[in-house]
Formats: sequence, C-alpha cells, structure tokens
Amino acid sequence: MLNPKINEIRKPTKTISGITPVAVMLPPRKCKHGNCIYCPSMNVPQSYTPKSPVVLRAKSLDYDAYKQVVSRIKAFEIMNHPTDKIELIIMGGTFLEYPEKFQYDFIKGLYDGLNEKISKNLSEAKKVNESSKHRCVALCIETRPDVCCKFIERMREFGCTRVELGVQLIDDKVYKLVKRGHGVKEVILATKCLRNAGFKIGYHLMPGLPGSNLQNDLKLFKKIFSDESFKPDQIKIYPCQVLPNSELEKLYWEGKYKPYTPAEIQKLLVEMLKIIPRYCRVMRIMREIPLEYLIAGSKEIGIRKDVEDDLRKNKVKLKEIRYREIGFNKSAGYLNTDLKFKKTEYKASGGKEYFLEIVNKDDILFGLLRLRIVDQIGMVRELHVYGQSLKLGEGGKEKGQQHTGLGKWLMEEAEKIAKKEKCKEIKVISGVGVREYYKKLGYILEDGKGKMEYMRKEL
Ligand code: SF4
Repeated sequence: MLNPKINEIRKPTKTISGITPVAVMLPPRKCKHGNCIYCPSMNVPQSYTPKSPVVLRAKSLDYDAYKQVVSRIKAFEIMNHPTDKIELIIMGGTFLEYPEKFQYDFIKGLYDGLNEKISKNLSEAKKVNESSKHRCVALCIETRPDVCCKFIERMREFGCTRVELGVQLIDDKVYKLVKRGHGVKEVILATKCLRNAGFKIGYHLMPGLPGSNLQNDLKLFKKIFSDESFKPDQIKIYPCQVLPNSELEKLYWEGKYKPYTPAEIQKLLVEMLKIIPRYCRVMRIMREIPLEYLIAGSKEIGIRKDVEDDLRKNKVKLKEIRYREIGFNKSAGYLNTDLKFKKTEYKASGGKEYFLEIVNKDDILFGLLRLRIVDQIGMVRELHVYGQSLKLGEGGKEKGQQHTGLGKWLMEEAEKIAKKEKCKEIKVISGVGVREYYKKLGYILEDGKGKMEYMRKEL
C-alpha cells in the first residue's frame, strides 16, 4: 500500500467521530451455551469467518493482545490517523466466559500495547496509561445478556466503559428457536445493571431471524425504544445472513428458511431509522462477510448510504446520532457554528436519564453527554465531543471541534442538573486515559470502594 501524502488521512471516516478505534480479536473458543443456529463455527473466533481482515490480522499475531494493539497503532500511524485517543474493542466470542486469568492477562496486554511497555500487573498498566502517548479513552466488551451482571465489578476493574449486548430480537419464541440460551428477561436485567453502573450500552440487533417476519421485527424494534426496560445508547443492525457450518445453513438448503431480500431489508431499514430517538447512535448496518462465505442473504454493504440518501432526498430528517454528527455533515457545505445547549429527559430501566447535547440551529451535533440519576448519584455514562480526532493538547482550530471547551460546558450542565436532582456526588465512568482530563475539572479517582473505579466529585 502506498503511504498517504503529507496531511492526507486514509479512510478519514475511521476517526471522524473523534476517537481512533482499535479492534482486537479473541482466540477461538466455543460459547458455553452451545451454538446459536445462525452462528458459524469455523475454527476462527466465534461468529467470524476466515479471511475477514480482522481475523487474518489477529491470527497472524497468534491472537496476542499486546501484538495486536501495537500492530494496529502502527497501521493507523501509517495512514496518518491520530493515535493518542484510542478506543479498544474486544471482539470474537464471549470474553467474560474465558478463563479468569486469561481475561486479566489479555486486558493487561492491551494496556501494555498502548503503553509500549510491559507493566508488573494490570493496575500498574492502567496507571501508566493515564499519561501515556496512546491513551485508552474507551474500552468495549461484547457479551451475551446472560453473561453480564455478575461481572460488572470486573469490567470496571478492566477499565471497560461500553458493553455491547447480543440482543438480536426481544422475542422469547425466537430466542428458543435460534438456541440463544437466554430470554428477554436477561436482556432487561443486563440493561439495568449496566446502566446503573454507568456503562454505555449497545445492542446488536438481527432482523430476519427464523420464526420472525418483517412486521414482528418492526413491532419489536419500536418496543426497544418505547419500553423503558431497553432504550440502548447505540445499536448495530445486522440482518440475518446464512453462513457456512451453521444450523441455519441446513435449514436453508432444506427450504425451511429464507433470508430477507435486499428490497425487504431496505424497506425495513427506512422504517427503523425513522423511529430511532436522538439519544441513540446507529453504529453500523450490515455485517461485512467475505463473499465466498455468504451462502444467502444480502451483500449490500452500502445499503445504509442508499437508505440515508433516499431519506435526505425526501426531506426526512433522522434523529439518530451518527446522522447528525458534525463529522458526517461537514462536507454538506456551510456549517453554522452558533451552538446551543439542548436537554432531553427520558425514563430507562427504572431511573431518569438526561441526554445533553451541543447542537447548532440545524440540529447538527457537536458534543453529547449522558447523565443517569441513580440513588442520589449523578452518573455520567458518556461524554463525547465530535469532530475529526485532534491530538491531545492541540487546541481546536475551528469552533465546535474537540478541545474548544464543549466537554467542560457539558460537564457543568450535568453538575447543575445533578445538584437540582439533590445528588450528593457526581461520578464519571471514565476510560483510564481520560482520567487526567477529569482531574483538571476537579474530579478525583474514587478510592476505598474495591474495584469499582469512577472519577468522582462532591456536589
Ligand atoms: S452467543 Fe454469539 S458468538 Fe456465541 S454462539 Fe451465539 S452468536 Fe455465536
């Protein structure tokens, strides 16, 4: 690959949301409950196919956490992306079911990779990362809803800030049919305990599963945002595809299952996107499966763009976050930078959520904060200022970019709300590498409360 020219950023959308994502893969291991019928088992990390780029990379590095991080950072540097604010994403199976020692070693390996230095233990590695060149500003773990609540403390000890749950479809009949090994009850429970502990929550959703249909998918999708037991902060929509070595493949060849056609998916997506509220971000639509492994199902990777272009043409404005982010709207021409503060209140998992935004008059999003009120504690679940990722310490050149005080503005508004709600303190679920930032705002690392590490300030 040719190196980019000076100042050219390869694949700019990778860091357009302000953070550089580093995905790492787990070594192959079967899930304890068995196999969901749509999940391929191919001697590579569970649910992935050989030849997918992230699998190939990880395999060539023996799935070693340290080596994967070092190699991805090098690749980003070559492509001219900033590498000082990193989001780590652990993919490929149910991490929290791996042996405990493996989990701790893997996480330590990730921080060591960022620190470019081997620490004595996890706690030292995290400490070093607080001021290292490549800081971990967020850490994401993917898991099943039934392998979640009892590991809350451990995930905090790991420095995890976001959890992605395999939810697929909130329908007990379908869960049974596809052998998920859990029900809707577990989704509700996992969502609640994650939320109360301050995690950002993502759902993976799968329309087109056996036992469902377009109407049912849409009905339950609506329920996800109308029933306060759910309401995720972000979603990925992966329409069901038929992959080799899955039970679904057998059903497909026997004529007992048919995936949705691209036209059906497109129609469904239009309806889904229209109802997603402003506090939710659609992270991704469609899974990219190497074509030789796709037995049946849509291959339209660009479908999201087509759907959004159509909606734009018809003057339908979407509310979901990614659609409104400044990074994705910059190219649209003149950008109004008269910024205002916007507050949205909603109920979720038995508590109150405040979604705070900095937007312009066209509703373009420059920054956001999620505040939950739990037992007289204000819990900041996310603070994000959008725009092409800037280097730490580099002042934003344009109004509305990172480091121009939008984060501070949002934090001050959150503190005001928490005080009004009679909270005695405010806590932030901060990535290890952002602790320094909060220290400057008067927050201190909570101590004496075991492994539940938050940045904290008395009000
Ligand atoms: S839980 Fe996820 S990784 Fe495990 S078998 Fe089911 S789909 Fe595959």
